[in-house]
Amino acid sequence: MRGFGVITTGKAGWMEKERPVAGPLDAIVKPIVLAPCTSDVHNYHGGAGPKENLILGHEVVGEVVEVGDMVTRFKPGDKVVVATTTPDWLALGVQEKYNAHDSGPLKSFKFTSSRDGVFSEYFLVNQADANMTFLPENVKPEAALMVVDMMSTGFHGVELAEINFGENVVVIGIGPVGLMAVAGSALRGAGKIMAVGTRPDCVKIAREYGATDIINYKEGDILDQVMELTNGEGADKVIIAGGKPESFTKAVQMTRAGGIVSNLVFWDAIDVLSIPAPAWGLGMKNVDIRGGFCPGGALRMERLLNVLENGRLDTTKLISHRYEGFDKIEDAFYLMDEKPRDLIKPVVFI
Ligand SMILES: [Zn+2]
Repeated sequence: MRGFGVITTGKAGWMEKERPVAGPLDAIVKPIVLAPCTSDVHNYHGGAGPKENLILGHEVVGEVVEVGDMVTRFKPGDKVVVATTTPDWLALGVQEKYNAHDSGPLKSFKFTSSRDGVFSEYFLVNQADANMTFLPENVKPEAALMVVDMMSTGFHGVELAEINFGENVVVIGIGPVGLMAVAGSALRGAGKIMAVGTRPDCVKIAREYGATDIINYKEGDILDQVMELTNGEGADKVIIAGGKPESFTKAVQMTRAGGIVSNLVFWDAIDVLSIPAPAWGLGMKNVDIRGGFCPGGALRMERLLNVLENGRLDTTKLISHRYEGFDKIEDAFYLMDEKPRDLIKPVVFI
């Protein structure tokens, strides 16, 4: 079978591999629609350690081709939404609060990390009953596709920030994850939602998702702008979904005493995140600094899809580029790498 991935760090291309074989709990699935992601590009450039001969891709809605003997919920022909994070549910780490760390930090992220991903004619879903769910009838495949990572990650930022009614929230970075954090904050009943970004399409969608204020970092320091918008008090909660290491420092600075900083950025291995002591109230400000990875699991997918099924959120606003055909995976991938100004999320219909 053909797949597109990392040949060696910094070199991507098509590769030929054996079709995977399903174990008793696994499923073999073929893609219907898929999307490249910044994490794929990150892996290609070696940001998460060197990679070799690995098929990329971890965002997909597909059709079941084959199931193992012990799979009970699915059969060939079923249309399924596959979680980006597919834990080994027998590993003890999933019994902790967050399921992204089955046998160590981020170890539940298998596609494009420790196993061939979904930019392939066929791919394997481990423990299929627990890691994928049915595509709901009234949800478009491309809308469901935006759930598996973008919505799950963006909403996780909102969960970590424990956003309550009427709180003032800053979302730093309004790429697709940041936009989902804006939408999630609005659903959670935030008061002021201040979105930091400049790209016109993203700004427009941020407003549609509920941003009350747009902070343009080209027009002045974001810390000063947040302070001005909050009468010098700072924000209750800050979600970091983009920016540079300095944005992390500013996030801590702009959070009022008792608040929460929630990080969703996959920082590069060489980044250093620092906090000058005064920014954190000399360590006494009771500001919690949290960060987490996209939660997975079938139940998580079902809950998020339920938000779509009931018309509370339109995730398709994130889709800026559409491609048709398996071979276009390559174009969509390089578009993600080039990041033109009008890019939010490209999708490929297979
Ligand atoms: Zn992704």
